[in-house]
Amino acid sequence: MSSQALEPFVIVAIDGGAASGKSSSARALSERFNLLHVDTGSYYRALTSELLAQGVDAGDIPAVTSALGGLRLGTRVDGRSARMEINGRIAGEEIRSREVNEAVSHFAALPVVRQALLAYQRGQADVARARSFRGLVMEGRDIGSVIFPNADFRFFLEADPAERVRRRAREGQEDSIAERDRLDSSRRASPLSCPAGAVAIDTTRLTLPEVVETMSRAIASRLSPA
Ligand code: C5P
Repeated sequence: MSSQALEPFVIVAIDGGAASGKSSSARALSERFNLLHVDTGSYYRALTSELLAQGVDAGDIPAVTSALGGLRLGTRVDGRSARMEINGRIAGEEIRSREVNEAVSHFAALPVVRQALLAYQRGQADVARARSFRGLVMEGRDIGSVIFPNADFRFFLEADPAERVRRRAREGQEDSIAERDRLDSSRRASPLSCPAGAVAIDTTRLTLPEVVETMSRAIASRLSPA
C-alpha cells in the first residue's frame, strides 16, 4: 500500500458569526496541516457583488434565479486558498465594500442562492484531493450543519459582540456585524447555529494561538502536522 493510501483525508468545518475568528484560525490550520482553506463567506460575497453589479435586487427572486443561471463557477487555488471564479474572473477587494456588507445576508437568505453554491462547496473536497492537500478546512455559517455534517471535526466559534466590532475596526473595516448576525441566525434556510456535536469555542478572551492550539490538539489525533 502506498503511503498516500494510509494518509487520511480530513475535513474540518468552522462555523460562527462575523468576526468570531474563523478566517484567522482556518488559515493557521491550513498552514499547520497542509489543508486547502475555503472561505465560503467570500463566495457569498463574490456572488452578491456580481448580482449587485448586474443590478439585481435580492427581493426579486425571478431576477436572482435568472442571473444565477448565467454564471459559470470555477475554482482557482492560490497557495493554500481556494478562490471562486465567476465566469473566469476572481472578485477583488470590492467584496469587502459597505455595499456588499449590507446586501450579502439578504442574498444569502435566499434558498436559490444557497442551492447555487451547495454542490460547488461540496466539490471543493475534490479540488483539495486533486491538488494533493491532506484535507480541507472550510469556514462559514452552515458548514458543519449542512455542507459537511459528517466532517471529521466541527468547530463553532463565538465571541462577545463588542469584541467582534473591535476586531473588525482593528482590520480597518466598517461592518454591519450585528445586523448580519441577526439576519443569518433568523433566516429559514440554513440558519447560523451551533450544530449538535460541534465543539463550541468562545474566543472572546483567547488569543489566536490559543484558539488554534485547541483545534490543533483535536486534529492531531488524526493527522500529524505537515
Ligand atoms: O464570513 P463572512 O462574514 O465574510 O460572510 C459574509 C456573509 O455570507 C454572512 O454574513 C452570511 O450572510 C453569508 N454566509 C452564509 N453561509 C456561509 C458563509 C457565509 O450565509 N456558509
